[in-house]
Amino acid sequence: MSIPVSQFDALIIGAGGGGMRAALQLARADAKVAVVSKVFPTRSHTVAAQGGINAALANVLPDNWHWHMFDTVKGSDYLGDQDAIEYMCKIAPQVVYELEHTGVPFSRLDNGKIYQRRFGGQSQNYGGEQAARTCAAADRTGHVIVHTLYQQNLRAQTHFFDEYFAIDLLKAEDGSIQGALVLCIETGEPMIIQAKTTLLATGGCGQMYRNNTNALINTGDGMAMAMRAGVPVEDMEFFQFHPTGIAGKGILITEGARGEGGYLTNADGERFMERYAPNAKDLASRDVVSRAIHTEVKEGRGCGPNKDFVYLHLDHLGEEVLQKRLPGIRATSIAFLGIDPVDAPIPIYPTAHYVMGGVPTDRFGQVVVPVGTGPEEAVPGLYAAGECACASVHGGNRLGGNSLLDILVFGRAAANNMIEALKENPSHKTLSQESIDAAVTNLTRWDDISEGSETVEGLRNELQRTMETYCGVYRDKTMLDEGVEKVRELLKRLPNARLKDHSKIFNTARIEALELENLMQLSLATIVSAQAREESRGAHSRVDFPTRDDDKWMKHSLFFMEGERLDYKPVRSKPLTVESFPPKERTY
Ligand SMILES: Cc1cc2nc3c(=O)[nH]c(=O)nc-3n(C[C@H](O)[C@H](O)[C@H](O)COP(=O)(O)OP(=O)(O)OC[C@H]3O[C@@H](n4cnc5c(N)ncnc54)[C@H](O)[C@@H]3O)c2cc1C
Repeated sequence: MSIPVSQFDALIIGAGGGGMRAALQLARADAKVAVVSKVFPTRSHTVAAQGGINAALANVLPDNWHWHMFDTVKGSDYLGDQDAIEYMCKIAPQVVYELEHTGVPFSRLDNGKIYQRRFGGQSQNYGGEQAARTCAAADRTGHVIVHTLYQQNLRAQTHFFDEYFAIDLLKAEDGSIQGALVLCIETGEPMIIQAKTTLLATGGCGQMYRNNTNALINTGDGMAMAMRAGVPVEDMEFFQFHPTGIAGKGILITEGARGEGGYLTNADGERFMERYAPNAKDLASRDVVSRAIHTEVKEGRGCGPNKDFVYLHLDHLGEEVLQKRLPGIRATSIAFLGIDPVDAPIPIYPTAHYVMGGVPTDRFGQVVVPVGTGPEEAVPGLYAAGECACASVHGGNRLGGNSLLDILVFGRAAANNMIEALKENPSHKTLSQESIDAAVTNLTRWDDISEGSETVEGLRNELQRTMETYCGVYRDKTMLDEGVEKVRELLKRLPNARLKDHSKIFNTARIEALELENLMQLSLATIVSAQAREESRGAHSRVDFPTRDDDKWMKHSLFFMEGERLDYKPVRSKPLTVESFPPKERTY
């Protein structure tokens, strides 16, 4: 098959906050940039971010980046890399002001400064008062960020390929990454985008779980593409369950709701978080609050006829505050539950939300892999930023408000690094035919299956249930052993899935099949990594190994697709300029 080729300096796969921040930096430096997105850019999941973005601006209470750094290291359960965390927290105010100056309409304090609210896991250094570090535009922060970045990119002449699906990375003869094979969803025709530098910014993979807060498009495509190109994925066992999803539906109620003063109660009307986190209470870290809710329900103190949820109260805040600060939450609750939080509490239960792991990078957004027993080396031409990457600033547990920050800080850093790389590598390399053929096979083999007993939808449902049952908030060996076998079995059944529709024009069935394969490969990476890690840290809670084991497990996991191989690498616990925060018991 002869496939058309388009050439660019930089290919950005993903048009969420991470991809578009990177694209803007590159386009402003006069690089020829292509952004590929499987949905129209402003429909990327970043648009759904509600609560806000962290930066120690100290607009409401005293604060500084060093406290932000400490909170992030502690929140990560000491698995975060402290050089990357220092970099992110230090540059956060600058990145937020840059957003403000590109046109993001933040909510304002009476004195005109950017509004900041409290979020989980933020320090209590001020006579018991918690910092308020999360910059917000009401409860639509992601929405305003994505729209602003899109408009600025149009102005900077970034070239958008809207509704193009990236299938696989392409390599040059020397092994460097040189773009990707993509599919135009509208026409069903493949195209090669050849690029001197390629950034993965494809977001998360929350669709691995049945109850989740994520968009349907969050299927981890970029991480799976990296795995197929021989790159491992890091720390996949750390998956964040957000404490406040609408019970039974999974839709997110932002942590900002508790930041504005909301609180949780059980069937006895008790504010149970006081028992689990005497200081931070409802604003303890997400892993802590999710486990507390799970325990309340398991021990019979859940609410409702089936005792299977707890209540989130906002009714004491008053209509004015709710309408001004949390209008989207109020609308969501009315639309999906028929409950106006002005009058009554919202039934909530933990829901799958965010992947801490991803494609391993250094703090410059460059993808790095271990080579033999020596230090890590960069994969030439390949960069990653945003939720699909693991820098690793979140370690075992991410703090609310730190992901919008992560995607922008590292999208920007990766772009700066790519600009330097373009100066050193000004010309295109010859693509390896072998790598093109492999990518094309991944696409066309779905058309070769005309007989088959499985459906894509059936397999996806089974996968989501399996991950929820065997790799959820709490885990143990029996569960994980069984889960690993089940996911392997599902992967074996995948080739029997038949596409009912083989047409070319806007064939979403084909896209869903490609997404399912990505999701399955990542589920395997997640559950195999979880099975191996015999300790409890951050979001990874092993009932059979209930404590953190720094002697054995203060290290990052790396899962390689080939041979389902696991490897480990040390945590970078040395920051850039300040002293390291040594591991301590984590209490809130
Ligand atoms: C409901 C919700 C609320 C949240 N609220 C907050 C918050 O208040 N604060 C905070 O810090 N974090 C929040 N988060 C987390 C944060 O929003 C995300 O982690 C972050 O926005 C991810 O951004 P991203 O740029 O990495 O990817 P995304 O915004 O997810 O974008 C991914 C992009 O990749 C493209 N893509 C993916 N696969 C392919 C493919 N195969 N081919 C082509 N294109 C592809 C998509 O089209 C999309 O453009 C929230 C998350 C959710 C789900």
